[in-house]
Amino acid sequence: MPEGPEIRIAADRIARVLEGERVEQAFLALPALRRFRARLEGAHVLRVDTRGKAMLTRFDNGLTLYSHNQLYGRWYVRPRGELPRTNRSLRVALHTASHSALLYSASDIAVLDEAGLEAHPFLRRIGPDILDRELTWRDLAVRLDEARFRRRALSSLYLDQAFIAGIGNYLRSEILFFAGLDHRRRPADLSRGERGRLGRETLAVALRSYDTRGITNPPSRVRARKAAGDAARGAHRFAVFGRDGKPCDGCGTAVQRTDAGSRRLYYCSVCQR
Ligand SMILES: [Zn+2]
Repeated sequence: MPEGPEIRIAADRIARVLEGERVEQAFLALPALRRFRARLEGAHVLRVDTRGKAMLTRFDNGLTLYSHNQLYGRWYVRPRGELPRTNRSLRVALHTASHSALLYSASDIAVLDEAGLEAHPFLRRIGPDILDRELTWRDLAVRLDEARFRRRALSSLYLDQAFIAGIGNYLRSEILFFAGLDHRRRPADLSRGERGRLGRETLAVALRSYDTRGITNPPSRVRARKAAGDAARGAHRFAVFGRDGKPCDGCGTAVQRTDAGSRRLYYCSVCQR
């Protein structure tokens, strides 16, 4: 399952061909959505936003195309007139003068106005997007201290889309490692300084992963790993995730693996307190 950075990278690909462009032709396969075709044709795409695993294509007429890919949905971008070779079924097509953005196989699709966006059950339930440029570490430090979150273990909070949308399993382990915090602690047990540090690392690790297409280690650590012989991307990509038994870069202790929330979690018992 892709996490926030991967969804944002996919959205960027769509945005590059759609943003600012006029929709010359639209296709909506789901019968409930066909009535929107005429309203999308002629509209311009303002931008493509993400909220966790949902993608929001916003048009200048106030409508938004909501799509959640779940496991099977996939967007393709092609020069107009070309179709990808796939056995998947086409659900949405937006054609500009030069390109086509094509959504296959997804079933969770809606066309919503502003009120519909506000009322949408998934969007209502999820927290701010981890890659939202407006989101600050202070916002996260405050959110950690909210009554509904502060008494839950970090291991559970950091998989909960209602807390922050777009965090998944590898980001959970990596963020907690870089924040130096034990996954069993709760925000209520942290000092104000620790909550601030967690807020900063949450944004920094997610942004690094987005910028590097999935590498959470900072450049200095990547260089050190490469110098030590770990040239393959898989060998230097993560600080702890998937590295049980291997030495922690910080202290040399073996990285440990456990299960938390029925998903695997990796940590250093010395560096994370
Ligand atoms: Zn360590």
